[in-house]
Amino acid sequence: MHTTAAGGANVSPQEIARFDSLAARWWDPDGESRPLHDLNPVRTAWVAARLDLRGARVADVGCGGGLLSEALAAAGARVTAIDLGEKVIDIARLHLHESGLSVDYRVQSSAKLAAAEPAGFDAVCCMELIEHVPDPAALVHDLAAMLRPGGQLFMSTLNRTPAAFGAAILGAEYVMRMLPRGTHHYAQFLKPSELARLLRHAGLELEEVRGLGYNPLNRKAWLSRFTAVNYLLSARRTGTPCDRKPA
Ligand code: SAH
Repeated sequence: MHTTAAGGANVSPQEIARFDSLAARWWDPDGESRPLHDLNPVRTAWVAARLDLRGARVADVGCGGGLLSEALAAAGARVTAIDLGEKVIDIARLHLHESGLSVDYRVQSSAKLAAAEPAGFDAVCCMELIEHVPDPAALVHDLAAMLRPGGQLFMSTLNRTPAAFGAAILGAEYVMRMLPRGTHHYAQFLKPSELARLLRHAGLELEEVRGLGYNPLNRKAWLSRFTAVNYLLSARRTGTPCDRKPA
């Protein structure tokens, strides 16, 4: 069950509760967020190679405990980071005392941030979130609305393929027990072509799709041409988000 039109929020409360339950261990590189720790340097470098982060205003949507938000801030970006999990945001704020970095963390929905700061950001990052929201098209619209014209969107998510089912669900949740069972729902995974369609409808132009490789055994991550499991995607706001969502 999730709240959509009725409650006005594009969020599944169970998803938020699941991530909040992991909050205390978010910064433990050997805890449940371990894959995110391992992927973080590669995805941060990928963003940094496409955008001069120094002084850039960046929104990190669905920031969790702040692994990417802090990495972006460390590279000189002015980061506003939002999540609907109160506990993950508490942990993200606490960690700033340890890192000495500065990030504007908020418990806020993407819709609220988009309404509060339309076209307010040079770039928006939304990593490992879209597969957890009830209405991905609405999320993409919010992300587009936050971007200034010419601004860049950076996303990462899981493809809907047998390989992704094997790696992200069977492998990570059942065989290796690296992620809690129920972390991912196969039917909610999006193919790059499906995500590209949502982007187009939101006035965004697809620039790049890259595979994000990961070996949980040696904990190495790398960019690749293999997009069948996890992939990174970048797009640019060229148009105005249209009012109507794709059917
Ligand atoms: N982007 C971070 C965290 C990914 S985990 C990273 O890649 O390191 C997914 C996060 O999305 C969790 O923190 C969860 O609380 C958050 N989340 C899930 N549904 C959400 C929604 N509808 N709106 C905002 N955040 C959401």
